[in-house]
Amino acid sequence: MHYDYLVVGAGLFGAVFAHEMAVAGKNVLVIDKRKHVAGNIYTENRMGINVHEYGAHIFHTSDKEVWDYACTFAEFNNYINSPVAVYKDELYNLPFNMNTFSKMWGIRTPDEAKAIIKEQADKEIERICKEKNTDSFSPDNLEEQALSLAGRDIYEKLVKGYTEKQWGRDCSELPSFIIKRLPMRFIYDNNYFNDRYQGIPMGGYTRMVEKLLLMADGDELPFVKGNIKVMTEVDYYDFIKMSGNIPAEPFESVNGDSFDKILFTGMIDEFFGYKLGTLEYRSLRFETEELPDVDNFQGNAVVNYTERDIPYTRIIEHKHFEYGQGKGTIITREYPANWKHGDEPYYPMNDEKNNKLYQQYTELASEFPNILFGGRLGQYKYYNMDQVIRAALDMAKENL
Ligand SMILES: Cc1cc2nc3c(=O)[nH]c(=O)nc-3n(C[C@H](O)[C@H](O)[C@H](O)COP(=O)(O)OP(=O)(O)OC[C@H]3O[C@@H](n4cnc5c(N)ncnc54)[C@H](O)[C@@H]3O)c2cc1C
Repeated sequence: MHYDYLVVGAGLFGAVFAHEMAVAGKNVLVIDKRKHVAGNIYTENRMGINVHEYGAHIFHTSDKEVWDYACTFAEFNNYINSPVAVYKDELYNLPFNMNTFSKMWGIRTPDEAKAIIKEQADKEIERICKEKNTDSFSPDNLEEQALSLAGRDIYEKLVKGYTEKQWGRDCSELPSFIIKRLPMRFIYDNNYFNDRYQGIPMGGYTRMVEKLLLMADGDELPFVKGNIKVMTEVDYYDFIKMSGNIPAEPFESVNGDSFDKILFTGMIDEFFGYKLGTLEYRSLRFETEELPDVDNFQGNAVVNYTERDIPYTRIIEHKHFEYGQGKGTIITREYPANWKHGDEPYYPMNDEKNNKLYQQYTELASEFPNILFGGRLGQYKYYNMDQVIRAALDMAKENL
């Protein structure tokens, strides 16, 4: 069969792009090497709870067009992300706001909080300048940067251990640019995000992606309807006929299908056989536990553990994303991990070295106008879901 597009990856980017193409009358084949669609936003219903299998996902955006678009494929609840941080036996609200400051210092007013932060930050700047024998402060690492922005208490209790676990290195060895600002709110407001719209799709993200792929409730994979065919457990590298590392045009699959164009949402460096070098990522390990005899494990969807000695960064209790009231609960501990070939590449490391390499890959990619690269792996960008939708809609528009 002949298709206008082969879409590699049934994650959010691939699904939005495939949807837009299909409704515009193009024939699209979507493949994914995983057993399921939805990529990293995949949710699986277990014990009546939608479990975020690849980490907690909260949809938030200020882009009204993207919000309206998402709402045509899911009904969102009114979930507001309000994480809690645990440091030793102390609990603090996040993001840093008057609830955090009041708990930390026993104060009530914004002026009191600002005065304490300024006093502590000034003291650290003075100490660092003295140690370096200079009058002008310029942070040499993340530790100095955070101390100069927030002072010792916030840094020690809420920034240091968490950041060191995330990056697998001491804050004094991390570059200062990782933390440009430490957002602080001088009002009593625990809403983590500043965006206008926020929520969780009721019934899970997987259902939202299935709808994008034109699947009705209960449709099974592989799936064909109208202009879309979806196949899972199909790896692009086994599926497409190659000439060296690159698919030969006209693009053809091993089973005789042919394609005018390809949208690739996997890793761009892998696509080109790593010929210019390997892009780096941070990975994660998830440990999920079903607790049928516990109805409410931690009283909040997201609890961060800010001590370095506790090896995980956070525990997610999935039922609270959808205000679940049923029996039992499911929790996931999230462990940051170094990435090596074969691990799941969760976070692109957008530092200067990797961005430069990615730039070289985009130059190489421009030699293949019939192959598009999209999504967090194809475009090597830390994209939130709303940015993925925006980028996929824009790419679809440009190619219609
Ligand atoms: C832990 C974590 C938490 C996050 N939390 C949030 C949040 O709260 N809010 C938010 O907005 N965003 C969040 N994000 C970001 C969000 O996950 C991404 O924006 C989104 O999933 C990216 O979609 P994508 O389609 O680009 O990539 P993916 O979801 O990774 O999809 C790519 C797909 O391509 C497939 N693929 C790759 N290579 C091949 C191949 N060779 N053959 C066939 N298929 C292939 C993969 O199997 C995958 O299914 C979070 C990300 C992580 C890692």
